[in-house]
Amino acid sequence: MPTASPAPLAGGPASAGRTRPDACPGAVDVHRAADGGLARVRVPGGTLSAAQVDVLRAAAIELGDGVLELTSRANLQIRGLAPGAEHELGARLRAVGLLPSPTHERVRNIVAAPLEDNQALVDAIDAELCATPELASLPGRFLVTVGGAVSGLSGDIGLVGDALFLAGHDSGLRVTDPVAAVVTAARVFAGIRGDAWRLSEVDGGVPKITAALGVPGDARVAPAVTPVAPGAHGEVVVAGVPLGRWDARLLAGVPVRLTPWRSVVVPAGSDTSGLFTSADSPWHGVSACTGSPGCAKSLADVRADAARWARSRSTSGRAHWSGCARRCGRPAGDVVEFVATGGGYEEIR
Ligand code: SF4
Repeated sequence: MPTASPAPLAGGPASAGRTRPDACPGAVDVHRAADGGLARVRVPGGTLSAAQVDVLRAAAIELGDGVLELTSRANLQIRGLAPGAEHELGARLRAVGLLPSPTHERVRNIVAAPLEDNQALVDAIDAELCATPELASLPGRFLVTVGGAVSGLSGDIGLVGDALFLAGHDSGLRVTDPVAAVVTAARVFAGIRGDAWRLSEVDGGVPKITAALGVPGDARVAPAVTPVAPGAHGEVVVAGVPLGRWDARLLAGVPVRLTPWRSVVVPAGSDTSGLFTSADSPWHGVSACTGSPGCAKSLADVRADAARWARSRSTSGRAHWSGCARRCGRPAGDVVEFVATGGGYEEIR
């Protein structure tokens, strides 16, 4: 597998018709939301030591609104930051290794199958991405997936064993040096993307990358999304986080692995009060957009309404609540939706 610079490619950069750069927030480059600064902390592979967890918990309580929001890429968000508080947050994160590269901060999007032993591979990919200066220009939406259970999350680049995925599908390439393959693919994407945010937006993007890496075979691995169910899994417990909002008073001193399904993997025996550990929980499958007061467009306090609804029902099942017709965060697949209208909610099935 090549590690040198990818060969020059024919044709100019792609145009996806974008009129602005992506606005994905970082940990220090925060988004100004209606309820204050919103910081997104990248956690490649979702793995946090107990010390890192405690720094994040304290930051959410002392600098934010007391909640750590779990994202669909297994990252964390702290919101409600006062102007300038992001600098204090950055210093705290840096002290525990959560901000290793100021230039590449928003690029460190690596989501991994949370019950697989893949963190060493994730760390190696992360280190190489951060060590490659030209990759600092990748968009904040760039995504690497590691493992079969997350291969269907539409990563730009993915690994399932030795199979290299590109734009969410098995490219047919089999790699012996997965770190070099991911970095080479990322460099080609950076060179051809133009104003595109995702590899799938670049005409001919996948063939250009495979041309730089080798000759694809015929074998294909089907993309999959295999959420881990709440409950015991051997030495660990998967605990669902209601509406993806982790009360920062919980899980003190516990190492955590974040999942892209708004749950956490913790050692068996950990105190999971405030979370849910059964797939039958009425909270299981319920999601909500930010809503009021965090989103200025919202017509309702969606999370409060969704929480009330979840507490009153006796079964589980997928439901998504939105504060306006944009329906942000709507999960793929079959889901009942509740969309705020200003005078209540429209139910969409
Ligand atoms: S769906 Fe509407 S209210 Fe909810 S986060 Fe998106 S824009 Fe805001």
